[in-house]
Amino acid sequence: MLHIGCHLSPSDGLLNMAKTASGLGADTFQFFSRNPRGSKAKALDQADADAMRAYLAAHAFAPVLVHAPYTLNPCAERPETAQFAELVMRDDLNRCTAMRAPFYNFHPGSHVGQGIAVGIEKTTALLNRILDGSTDTTVLIETMAGQGSEIGGTFEQVRAILDGVAMRDRVGVCLDTCHVFAAGYDIVNDLDGMLTAFDKTIGLDRLQFVHLNDSRFGCGEHKDRHAAIGEGLIGLDGVRRIVNHPALCNLPFCLETPHEALSEYADEIRLTREMTE
Ligand code: FE
Ligand code: FE
Ligand code: ZN
Repeated sequence: MLHIGCHLSPSDGLLNMAKTASGLGADTFQFFSRNPRGSKAKALDQADADAMRAYLAAHAFAPVLVHAPYTLNPCAERPETAQFAELVMRDDLNRCTAMRAPFYNFHPGSHVGQGIAVGIEKTTALLNRILDGSTDTTVLIETMAGQGSEIGGTFEQVRAILDGVAMRDRVGVCLDTCHVFAAGYDIVNDLDGMLTAFDKTIGLDRLQFVHLNDSRFGCGEHKDRHAAIGEGLIGLDGVRRIVNHPALCNLPFCLETPHEALSEYADEIRLTREMTE
């Protein structure tokens, strides 16, 4: 069975979020551990976290994903900005550990003129500082669209970050279908080609999660604009091939598509489940 869910908010508590996911037909989901713009996080309610974990286990959920605030820049040139990213990620990782969350996903950052090599080096160094052996949570590097000066827009760059991390078992990759397409991997006409490149450069064994999004912009345009499933340039047939591909079909998939109402995610989850062969 396809493991799929969507992005949810923990504003009504963690257990309630898991129940909401169930109600949508999801068996995985993603959430921000704090305000997505960074800054303050409510203190973790350990009883609620334990209740969520028990609920997920009892309802046979696939692993869920905690997403770092998307405004962080782990490789920023300004020390205060990079230090803020480190502070937030370290605190998030502690919260993930307390929740016993299996995966924590982050955007590797934008070098903003420092150059790709410097960006990679700074993000890698940050990971080495926060992965100090005190967590069982695996940090996932998200594949990026290569918009602006984003790092992680090629598999080589993702590999370079992974290679620099001492705690090899505590880092992996989250593949975002909109991002890889925007980055120039033509998953519409050559999904196998993208997966072969991923395997050769990174290794499919490092791939832990998929963000399932259609794309408003074309392959190689480096524009990170998600579209609803079937409403972008990846299209229904493209998505059908992705969710049925033997290299991907057993991974957890999370929708990050633009919808207002939760019912639209329920519809999209159903639509995607119906595509599986
Ligand atoms: Fe993301
Ligand atoms: Fe994503
Ligand atoms: Zn995106």
